[in-house]
Amino acid sequence: MPGATTEISDTRGGDIDALVIGAGFAGLYQLLCLRDRLGLSVKALEAGAGVGGTWYWNRYPGARCDSESHAYCYTFSEDMMREWEWSERYPEQPEIMRYLNFVADRFDLKRDIHFNTRVTSAHYDEAANRWNVRTEAGEHFSAKYLITAVGCLSTANVPDIAGLESFQGDWYHTGQWPHEGVDFTGKRVGLVGTGSTGIQATPVIAATAAHLTVFQRTANYSVPARNVPLTPEFKQYVKDNAAEIRRATRSTPNGHPFVNSERMTFESSPEERHALYEAAWETGGLQFRTTFQDMMVNKAANDTAADFIRGKIRQIVNDPATAQKLSDIDHPYAAKRPPIDTNYFETFNRDNVSLVDVRAVPIECIAPDGIRTQDGDYPLDIIVFATGFDAMTGPMLRMDIRGRDGLPLAKAWESGPRNYLGLQVAGFPNLFTVTGPGSPSVLCNMPVAIEQHAEWIADCIAHMRDNGIERIEARPEAMDAWVEQVNAAADATLLPLATHSWYLGANIPGKPRVFMPYAGGMARYREICADVAAKNYAGFALSD
Ligand code: NAP
Repeated sequence: MPGATTEISDTRGGDIDALVIGAGFAGLYQLLCLRDRLGLSVKALEAGAGVGGTWYWNRYPGARCDSESHAYCYTFSEDMMREWEWSERYPEQPEIMRYLNFVADRFDLKRDIHFNTRVTSAHYDEAANRWNVRTEAGEHFSAKYLITAVGCLSTANVPDIAGLESFQGDWYHTGQWPHEGVDFTGKRVGLVGTGSTGIQATPVIAATAAHLTVFQRTANYSVPARNVPLTPEFKQYVKDNAAEIRRATRSTPNGHPFVNSERMTFESSPEERHALYEAAWETGGLQFRTTFQDMMVNKAANDTAADFIRGKIRQIVNDPATAQKLSDIDHPYAAKRPPIDTNYFETFNRDNVSLVDVRAVPIECIAPDGIRTQDGDYPLDIIVFATGFDAMTGPMLRMDIRGRDGLPLAKAWESGPRNYLGLQVAGFPNLFTVTGPGSPSVLCNMPVAIEQHAEWIADCIAHMRDNGIERIEARPEAMDAWVEQVNAAADATLLPLATHSWYLGANIPGKPRVFMPYAGGMARYREICADVAAKNYAGFALSD
């Protein structure tokens, strides 16, 4: 009954120890760690009708992971790594959904997940030391520990463009894609946005649409993904080397199993550099970034990679004016999350595809029959917004989280996210944020970052239980010091130079400009977190 308050207790009759919000990669593993390893009573609350998180919602044409499949998976069970077999170098969205359902079923996780359950508020009750959580349907849950596993990219950003409500055709955001799919056959389609999503979707939409117009605000680099079916030999290699793959993903800065080159850019001659970039272009994928060790810290070094990719764009795209618009890129390579693609630039050679530079000629409004820019109208049947997300903080701020004395998280973070290790916020006891801002998260192959956080949180809760500790909370001074470390780590790289990046919150009007993820590397971050735990959770206040 809408609005009714339902008290939900644990099926075994006791109190719920922990609530996990979300049932994607993070929520599933956090549930498993707390329920099966610690024996706690745990429920997960999930807005979707099934598991999958980002992959549940992002069903847009061409949706595929940019991490390689053999490393885009859980590694906590080598048996499971051997049981599951990926079919392609990069897993497609439906295959990732099959994988996450396989994991959920293998560990019987679904029985403790409430689906179709969107959390609207989470308030801390200090006297009871419990979190009271309410949902859109009016249910009420209460738990001692609250763990947000809401994903970094789950709050869709639909731009506020005048006239959208008057549009007579259909429009979609890629992050809220209809489960039944969209038929583009014979349609005039407009796609707004050229981030990783728009770059994946463009060739696939172009293949069936009557005409596709891509509205580009910021030109972007992209490197070929070179997706292929996995050979039987590679599948066997993965099974035989599960432990080694796990070790590799834990030892690199980005959680990918690539060996980072130790070469410095200017130790090579221009000819040698070109040959190395050519080889990396042929190999394809995110490992292009690892061609030289200093690519992300030395602007002149980065320029050589950027120029190489600009040259490739100009070679691939036949029309010089289109090539110019696509290659006129204003930020260092990979300072924004670097896309990888399958025939993105080639798609602009099709007769049914055109490019509009909406930085030069901004969108004025959406008219009933299409998009109106300052120099003309583009009649459309369908508009696809590949316009990204209110990243990292958006999903948490949307939930009305309040800590001690009713302090809203939105108030604590009004100048940008502040926390300790990306895991906890002062004033919010027993609240843990999986892959929160201030942790490597989106700069890392996500399952690697997620496993580290879920395990650290479970170990922390076990420590509390074993030592009669009731509350854990970040100390304000530890939080201040960590925010400084996060800023220093970003400033040591070229990442902040992409001033319009979502890493900085710059894609959302009015959002504070703060570099959100920790850029010091996953391996380093793992050591820091382990060290904090070993020092009796230094920087946290623990109390009875
Ligand atoms: P995004 O990187 O934020 O890109 C959004 C695009 O929309 C940008 O080109 C942006 O232009 C444009 N845009 C936003 N508002 C606009 C407006 N009002 N008018 C015109 N253009 C506008 O979002 P995304 O492509 O969805 O990717 C987000 C992240 O999701 C990625 O960086 C990646 O981490 C993840 N992702 C991963 C995969 C994968 O692994 N396969 C695939 C897709 C996404 P500006 O650049 O000018 O802001």
